[in-house]
Amino acid sequence: MSVRALIGLGGNLGDVRERLDAAIAALDALPGIAVLARSRLYRTPPWGQTAQPDFVNGAIAIETTLPARDLLEALLATERAFGRIRDGERWGPRTLDLDLLTYGDELIDDERLTVPHPRIAERAFVLLPLADIAADAVLPGMGRVRDLLGAIDTHGCTPLS
Ligand code: ATP
Ligand code: MG
Ligand code: MG
Repeated sequence: MSVRALIGLGGNLGDVRERLDAAIAALDALPGIAVLARSRLYRTPPWGQTAQPDFVNGAIAIETTLPARDLLEALLATERAFGRIRDGERWGPRTLDLDLLTYGDELIDDERLTVPHPRIAERAFVLLPLADIAADAVLPGMGRVRDLLGAIDTHGCTPLS
């Protein structure tokens, strides 16, 4: 059985565009994951801690046979493979962030994994890429991507040329 999932990608250290391309290829190469679609990339002002480089963000749609928690582990392992170091500081600079935005229609909330990702609706840097690949998707418990996007300020989040 396979499930369609949406994944948000981001980073703000080094050549992020190249790294996101490589990370998408690495995920596609994993057993049990096939990339179906990818968004444009967007440059966004830093969120949370503002004294750091701009972020580059995108999103992909995948089809996966992995259970949700195994998929999360694959995402975290891929972050590590691309040099992500967690120093305990949330929303700080990072080479690569891979967030599981949705996993089919499932609602999951435990200490390691919350799906849909709880901060999607407030983030232009997530909703703009999602609108490229899944504008009509209904995020469980949240609503349609296109409607969520219409309700927030997207100022400052712009596609990379
Ligand atoms: P945010 O979640 O606000 O985007 P972040 O991506 O910087 O912040 P991380 O440091 O990447 O946060 O993740 C911290 C932990 O969040 C991970 O170790 C993971 O266990 C947990 N987590 C819970 N739900 C999710 C999810 N849907 N996708 C990715 N990580 C998640
Ligand atoms: Mg994140
Ligand atoms: Mg993350």
